[in-house]
Amino acid sequence: MALIVQKYGGTSVGSPERIKNVARRVAQWCARGHQLIVVVSAMAGETNRLIALAKDVQSEPDPRELDVMVSTGEQVTIALLAMALMEQGIKARSYTGAQVKIVTDNAHTKARIISIDEKNIRADLDKGCVVVVAGFQGVTDAGEITTLGRGGSDTTGVALAAALKATECQIYTDVDGVYTADPRIVPDARRLKTITFEEMLELASLGSKVLQIRSVEFAGKYKVRLRVLSSFEDHGEGTLITFEESEKMEEPVISGIASNRDEAKITILGVPDRPGIAYQILGPIGDANIDVDMIVQNVGHDGLTDFSFTVNRNDFKKALEVLQLVRNHIKAREIVSGDKIAKVSIVGVGMRSHAGIASAAFRALAEEGINIQMISTSEIKVSVVIDEKYTELAVRVLHKCFNLDQPA
Ligand code: ADP
Ligand code: ASP
Ligand code: MG
Repeated sequence: MALIVQKYGGTSVGSPERIKNVARRVAQWCARGHQLIVVVSAMAGETNRLIALAKDVQSEPDPRELDVMVSTGEQVTIALLAMALMEQGIKARSYTGAQVKIVTDNAHTKARIISIDEKNIRADLDKGCVVVVAGFQGVTDAGEITTLGRGGSDTTGVALAAALKATECQIYTDVDGVYTADPRIVPDARRLKTITFEEMLELASLGSKVLQIRSVEFAGKYKVRLRVLSSFEDHGEGTLITFEESEKMEEPVISGIASNRDEAKITILGVPDRPGIAYQILGPIGDANIDVDMIVQNVGHDGLTDFSFTVNRNDFKKALEVLQLVRNHIKAREIVSGDKIAKVSIVGVGMRSHAGIASAAFRALAEEGINIQMISTSEIKVSVVIDEKYTELAVRVLHKCFNLDQPA
């Protein structure tokens, strides 16, 4: 008998029929003698609907109130799934994040899990009950409802698996695993049987929303066995996130391509080129709690230079406000900015031992006339910022360039 945590995403619980389908799958696992904790997301589209509703009433919704509201999406699906399980003759009980006591910090809309009280869940499991937990939500020590950021139900699943030392955490979604690129962008992308934890961490942080980045971080930290599978297929093995690099000699150099349209670019022109200037610009940005991603500083000319960086689009307006003050202070000439950009990245642990990967990617993009605005690299990834309108083209071109459509 094993303890399994299963997480079902929005599409997988998007209608009463699909919820009944999830209940049937869970019933099959119970019939094999396993203990089950099932984490569910809100029904497909519901979280977006609730956020839009809030914005109809308040242009920048109050974060505390927004959390009170968007957490209701998951509260509906836990109860529906518990009912569907009862209809199958299975004992089941639903829990909101607060009822479990998934304690988080108080960073509303992007809270981090601090601890999980396993007492009630454990008692239910021991009574032969399936425990259904609302994804994406927690509660602060002071009793405030919080949410964990978009896609946060993945993190709830992995965190529960870590806390209760589950045998495996299975993320059921609308694709049957992790692919070499988003299959909606690249139709001939291939499913990966395994992917290293390190690569998955990069892909998730660079925009592959199949797993929320924090869920991958959690899995790494607590060594949770994590698998991505389809909720619409019965026998697939999905993709296993592994901790060991494969021992096979001939591993592909690139494992996957990711893209992300969530960023905006800001350039400050005519900045005095003197020590401390990067700090004078980015210090106030950091103080405003805005994360900076890529940074580029040009070579100076006549005592002046240009300084560019990217931030999340949600922080774009706030960053520009902060920079107007900075600009006056440091006497820079001008600020130019735009949010019609995208970041496209190639990821693979094989890059460590292969030269020429970046230049091959740049050539492939150049042949399609795609201009590169910014570049950043690490040991296992190369990212470029390009005009948003070329996102899909760039992903396809890079996928082809590294033969990712060919069987490994
Ligand atoms: P859920 O609602 O189940 O959490 P998500 O929409 O959050 O599902 O994540 C699944 C989606 O992630 C897929 O439908 C797919 O379009 C997208 N995706 C992006 N990159 C990848 C990738 N490399 N492999 C698989 N799916 C990907
Ligand atoms: N319902 C939340 C969202 O849409 C959480 C999740 O689905 O993981 O972001
Ligand atoms: Mg998701």
